[in-house]
Amino acid sequence: MSVALLKTERLSVAYGRVEAVREACIEIPAGGVVTVIGANGAGKTSLLNAVMGVLPSSGGVEFDGRALGAKPVEERVAAGLSLVPEKRELFAVMSVEDNLRLGAYRLGAGAIRTGLAETYARFPRLRERRGQKAGTLSGGERQMLAMGRALMGRPRLLMLDEPSLGLAPRIVKEIFAIVSELKATGVSILLVEQNARAALEIADWAYVMELGEIVMQGPAADLANDKRVIESYLGLGRH
Ligand code: ATP
Repeated sequence: MSVALLKTERLSVAYGRVEAVREACIEIPAGGVVTVIGANGAGKTSLLNAVMGVLPSSGGVEFDGRALGAKPVEERVAAGLSLVPEKRELFAVMSVEDNLRLGAYRLGAGAIRTGLAETYARFPRLRERRGQKAGTLSGGERQMLAMGRALMGRPRLLMLDEPSLGLAPRIVKEIFAIVSELKATGVSILLVEQNARAALEIADWAYVMELGEIVMQGPAADLANDKRVIESYLGLGRH
């Protein structure tokens, strides 16, 4: 049996009286790729933000067997959690390389050097654009930079919030190929997506979220063949 790297226990998030996440229990095994799929507003982003500690929540989050309790974001980062937010949140007026450096800032000069070499090997496009301001990158390049910056910090769990959002199909393919490659390096991945088809293809395990609740879970390949999932999330109009 694989050990859970991350486990949420009845995790709930509320914005005033709006309950965005209700008692969500999810698990991510070490080295696994887990996806949470769901429609707009299902609560996926709120779930990630609660795990990262950017949003207050109730219930529990355990990472590597330890309760995170009220630990602030910086301590969660130091423990090995990393979130690539939906809005990417890059420093627009800084260069690609300086954005990357910031990702390994707390690890020191040696880690920055090796991190940059690894990042440029993984994302040759970022090497080409290393002097360019982040704010002038294309959508796909921005996503690569956001992922590269997160990986510079050597996370054990990489959380990706809608990495395919707003990208052309060809770029989406490229981003998902990179996610598959990352899996081979042993980093665990929690992928939140509206592009259910692509997410179910690369994940090992999947959760379906509706109106703040986890309503289904199972091996991703099984969910991809499930009648309800096909009807609601993989409908005919979507290719
Ligand atoms: P999307 O795919 O559109 O990003 P999501 O599944 O990530 O959706 P959330 O962004 O987590 O969903 O939103 C869940 C619910 O919480 C929605 O009903 C949303 O309107 C509400 N919500 C999110 N942020 C806030 C906020 N700051 N204040 C009030 N309500 C919010």
